[in-house]
Amino acid sequence: MLNPTCSVTLVADGDTYTAFPLSNAVLAGLRPLTAQQFGYDKIAGSGVEIAAGRVTGIDPQARTARLGDGRSIPYDRLVIAPGIDVKFDAIKGYGEAAAEVMPHAWTNGAQVALLAKQLEAMPEDGVVVISAPVAPLRCPLGPYERASMMALFLKARKPKAKLIVLDSKDSFILQKQFEAAWAELYPGLIEWIGLSQGGNLTEVDVANKTLITDFESYKADVANVIPPQRAAEITSTAGVADRTGWCPVDPITFESQLVPNIHVIGDAAIAGAMPKAASAASAEGKICAAAIAELLQGKTPQPRELGSSCYSLIAPDFALAIGDKYRPTDGQFMEVEGNATSTPADATAAQHAQEAKSADAWFAATTRETFG
Ligand SMILES: Cc1cc2nc3c(=O)[nH]c(=O)nc-3n(C[C@H](O)[C@H](O)[C@H](O)COP(=O)(O)OP(=O)(O)OC[C@H]3O[C@@H](n4cnc5c(N)ncnc54)[C@H](O)[C@@H]3O)c2cc1C
Repeated sequence: MLNPTCSVTLVADGDTYTAFPLSNAVLAGLRPLTAQQFGYDKIAGSGVEIAAGRVTGIDPQARTARLGDGRSIPYDRLVIAPGIDVKFDAIKGYGEAAAEVMPHAWTNGAQVALLAKQLEAMPEDGVVVISAPVAPLRCPLGPYERASMMALFLKARKPKAKLIVLDSKDSFILQKQFEAAWAELYPGLIEWIGLSQGGNLTEVDVANKTLITDFESYKADVANVIPPQRAAEITSTAGVADRTGWCPVDPITFESQLVPNIHVIGDAAIAGAMPKAASAASAEGKICAAAIAELLQGKTPQPRELGSSCYSLIAPDFALAIGDKYRPTDGQFMEVEGNATSTPADATAAQHAQEAKSADAWFAATTRETFG
């Protein structure tokens, strides 16, 4: 739309995209998984060519992306937004097979469905253990929203159950607000164990459904292991990921700092102070598109500000929110001072209810804008 002389091809692996914001509500039984899934028909209808398949190779010299079935797509500019992979080698005993027993539910809908099924089937007085990884991670608030949504389910359906969060960190964003909400809504149900108390998961014993930390072992009926993360595999294939496992980019155009003519947006990119969140990814997509439209017209893109807002559902009418604005500064996205907002620790019920409404409205607007 910004540059009608361009043609755009979207490579999509599968018929549907599963959106993760609000996906924790699926675990509480508040939303069906289908409410998170979107097709590409309307995008196709807007003139974008859809190439179904998975990119398996990229040749930056020839400027082609190769698909699994051997097709090759030429490009002037390539945008990669592949999200993350969980690091299967970071926790001893954990791998793809282990994830079928101890799901991470962090990258695909089938894993969310598996975790929901396990919760449903667990004994009434069972123990759920969630392990939260070190930063940087996709959706820094996500593990704690997940604990809240699972607690909602357990309170109603398995009232004698217990939920333990093993954390590889000593603190997390909005911790005060989460803990106050847990004390109010789920008293005695959630136990959070930080790094200093031995919360760092080092090993799993899949056969015995046991999580082993620096200090202790925890036997679980349901184990939700969220491992450390890195940019998805294709970024290594393309040569745009550095030794951190993430992709350094120019904050004005999102062009890779390692490979010309390839842009990286979303969770895979190192975007300074910006969180790895869908709201940020969506804003990055727009900035990147505008920059590419200008580059292809021989213009020089100028720095643009962007915003991000994340919501965490604690109960159906109770949410926390956090937001900020960012601007390219010294080659990196930095916070624009004075724009950070978050639900206050002493927020009223009406404020929490309003945040929950805003979360729904944001999700509806963003998915409508993206998928039509
Ligand atoms: C539990 C949870 C809750 C969350 N809640 C929120 C929230 O409330 N608000 C918020 O803003 N964010 C939230 N997020 C974060 C949000 O989901 C991510 O930040 C966002 O999805 C990042 O978008 P992305 O495009 O980088 O990656 P993705 O959304 O993962 O999209 C990447 C796509 O690329 C595909 N792909 C990967 N490799 C290839 C390849 N080689 N070829 C073709 N296709 C490929 C993948 O299959 C996928 O469809 C949450 C995340 C989780 C896990």
